[in-house]
Amino acid sequence: PDFATLGLAEPLRQALQELGYTQPTAIQQLVIPLVLEGQDIAGQAPTGSGKTAAYGLPLLQKLDLQLDAVQVIVLVPARELALQGRDELKRLGKYLPGLRVAAFYGGHGFQEETKSLRQAPHVLVATPGRLFDHLDRRTFIPNKLQLLVIDETDKLLDLKFQEALANIVQRLPRRRQTLLFSATMPDKVLELVRRNLTRPRHVQA
Ligand code: AMP
Repeated sequence: PDFATLGLAEPLRQALQELGYTQPTAIQQLVIPLVLEGQDIAGQAPTGSGKTAAYGLPLLQKLDLQLDAVQVIVLVPARELALQGRDELKRLGKYLPGLRVAAFYGGHGFQEETKSLRQAPHVLVATPGRLFDHLDRRTFIPNKLQLLVIDETDKLLDLKFQEALANIVQRLPRRRQTLLFSATMPDKVLELVRRNLTRPRHVQA
């Protein structure tokens, strides 16, 4: 199948063509249609499998760009991954008019992030500690959130982000779609799946 068969709209396909992504990878073939359908996903996929675009493309397609509010949060374990994730989503969303994607992470201006929240990015790529600070201080109220992505979950848990994750999820709307990705699926990851996803589809590539 190609990207059109998977259900992706023209503006995204245009960006893919320019990026030289001619064929969807295995994880993209499995994940894109399920996300467009609204399913929760527990995906086992290593770095390099194309998993960022696997969740990024359908989440971009689902955004309401007329709505000035954070609709998607992507949680990642490190600052570098937040920046990379933001950049990849911006590349994929190059032809979505007015798309705003922001990266939040520890160790740099909380105030700048708070200012950037007033311009309401559509997508927020963040590390859990910093995102929790914003939720806790109410500089960010996620009342329009539709979709949560938890990426590199095994690493998030290794880095002791378990409590921050639980605290974040507790503050998000219950009615939402949740996508979880992990290179490995040890018990503690499966436990997180069980607690936070609804009838998840398990996919592996
Ligand atoms: P990731 O697993 O998300 O870190 O992606 C690994 C690399 O594969 C990134 O550099 C992407 O730009 C690239 N990539 C993702 N999807 C495709 C695709 N369908 N065709 C070619 N390259 C891709």
